[in-house]
Amino acid sequence: MAPGGSTCREVTESHRSIVDYDITTERSESNCSTATSTVGFGGKLGLHQNSGVYELLECPVCSNLMYPPIHQCPNGHTLCSNCKTRVRNCCPTCRNDLGNIRCLALEKVAESLDLPCKYQSLGCHDIFPYYSKLKHEQHCQFRPYNCPYAGSECSVTGDIPTLVAHLKDDHKVDMHDGCTFNHRYVKSNPHEVENATWMLTVFNCFGRQFCLHFEAFQLGTAPMYMAFLRFMGDDNEAKKFSYSLEVGANGRKLTWQGIPRSIRDSHRKVRDSQDGLIIQRSLALYFSGGDRQELKLRVTGRISKEE
Ligand SMILES: [Zn+2]
Ligand SMILES: [Zn+2]
Ligand SMILES: [Zn+2]
Ligand SMILES: [Zn+2]
Repeated sequence: MAPGGSTCREVTESHRSIVDYDITTERSESNCSTATSTVGFGGKLGLHQNSGVYELLECPVCSNLMYPPIHQCPNGHTLCSNCKTRVRNCCPTCRNDLGNIRCLALEKVAESLDLPCKYQSLGCHDIFPYYSKLKHEQHCQFRPYNCPYAGSECSVTGDIPTLVAHLKDDHKVDMHDGCTFNHRYVKSNPHEVENATWMLTVFNCFGRQFCLHFEAFQLGTAPMYMAFLRFMGDDNEAKKFSYSLEVGANGRKLTWQGIPRSIRDSHRKVRDSQDGLIIQRSLALYFSGGDRQELKLRVTGRISKEE
């Protein structure tokens, strides 16, 4: 124990401290093991010759890469700013008081590194200065998509072919080939509008996939139904398509003309922005015919490609 250092709890090894501080959930996706295969360029430090430097930049507590401010204890043990706020001023390695010491030298070393995008294994071959990497990864076109299924919270992520197979196999979603559709939505007790969602339908059209959502929700106090289309791909590609939806009966109809939203936007976000065909319940029941006790809506639509 260093003179004057106060004793903290019985934490001696860094891997032990991960358990003690309960931060294992912080390890997220930043698995950077792919980085070791990269070749540096442009006069900056090449990573393959500098994996020692790279290791120094891994937080010894959570194993994530460290970004400024990088902290250190009076004995020089480093840790990331996330972990610093969690360890209550106690160095996880030597148990001395942490204080508020920045490790400027390591921050400077990081500046000189080039690192590959963490989605390298998914097809991104870009290499970034250390401090630009995080920003790129938030928008990298190769980052995995979330499962677009809306009925339950699903944590599956992947590229589009993976998710199409997942929707088919695990959610038993209907797949349709073609760019026009004619779909019936039925509910025997339409007065229960507890954020009901109907089975997603996926369309194969122009060689791409689109998800047709239909759901009930409360808009303020008014019960509504909403149909909208999402595109299985990025926003810049979604904009190349448009779609129309139509619902009606007895000589009346509602139509909607829209641009499919990328599944990068959650179905909830799209719903809350009301970017789709919205049908008030009274009108939906009128369109259903009969005695208004049952919802029976026929939604037709078409997906088009803008030239
Ligand atoms: Zn950390
Ligand atoms: Zn220490
Ligand atoms: Zn990338
Ligand atoms: Zn899923």
